[in-house]
Amino acid sequence: MATHLQLFVVSCFLLFLWVAPSGVDASWGDQHHIFRNFRRHCLNTNCSTEIKTKAFKARQPSYLQFLGWDCWSECTYESMWYLTKKTQEEVNRVPQFYGKWPFVRFLGMQEPASTIFSILNGIAAVFMLIQFRKRVPPKAPMYEAWHGYFAVVINAWLWSTVFHFRDLTWTEKMDYISAFSLIVSGVVMFLIRLFCLKGNSINIKVALPIGLPVAAFFLMHAFYLGFTKFSYGYNMKVNLTIAILNSVCWIVWSIYVWTRQRYAWKACIPILLGNLLTLLELGDFPPIWWVFDAHSLWHGGTAPLAVIFYSFIIDDCLYLNEEYTKSKSFQRKGV
Ligand SMILES: [Zn+2]
Repeated sequence: MATHLQLFVVSCFLLFLWVAPSGVDASWGDQHHIFRNFRRHCLNTNCSTEIKTKAFKARQPSYLQFLGWDCWSECTYESMWYLTKKTQEEVNRVPQFYGKWPFVRFLGMQEPASTIFSILNGIAAVFMLIQFRKRVPPKAPMYEAWHGYFAVVINAWLWSTVFHFRDLTWTEKMDYISAFSLIVSGVVMFLIRLFCLKGNSINIKVALPIGLPVAAFFLMHAFYLGFTKFSYGYNMKVNLTIAILNSVCWIVWSIYVWTRQRYAWKACIPILLGNLLTLLELGDFPPIWWVFDAHSLWHGGTAPLAVIFYSFIIDDCLYLNEEYTKSKSFQRKGV
């Protein structure tokens, strides 16, 4: 059994390395000679010697230094706006830089709207976790499992906040890995809810064969995101595939159980609307007022939708608990 499993995991890993493309997507803004020349000049003027760097730091507000805005990143930021203003005036086009639109920095936040919306999403998750703990008795089926899910959600919004606050290689990797864990956890929760419950606890004999391949797949993609120069396009395809699988599972299940479990719309509707919001993200556009791009609006929309889904979690746990209590009392009566 163990050797078959090891063989399976190794085969998956080799297949994964075979199909996974590498390389970071560049944009025409960061390839443009005006951007590159301006930045080279800025770096020579401010960052090329220790004395120049010290003088640059003395001019820079201390909170920006604290947030990791070093000489190099300040030059990149200034060069980005130099080219953006030029292309706006001359050809009425907005360039992208390293796969992103230019955003106005606010209080050191690189992408203010996405940062604030990520915080809102995190607050919504914490608030609904508190509601969950208030309303659902600890002996209810799925009680611990949903706690695990909430931990994944809160972790994902924490890293989303950090990444949109300050886009660095390591913050980006943490955000992408956490976002991936959030998508995978949706499928995992579905599998546990449908196939792994035994009374009010999880049947390990069923959960292990289902969970191990999912965990192996998660670790492989997390490794790819964390330790290689990953492709944004490929990562998006992987996330979209799992998100579609997750949506289909929950929507079909909601429709199937709706006549018995009227609250099931709370799983179905936010997922449907969430998919519509994702379409908004696919139709990318330059930021409105240099603040609101499609990605930030998507983050803004997910907060209220997630609250509906969290409310489903509470209702479903209460429903399962009622069913479990009924079955226990039937057993006691010997029915
Ligand atoms: Zn984001």
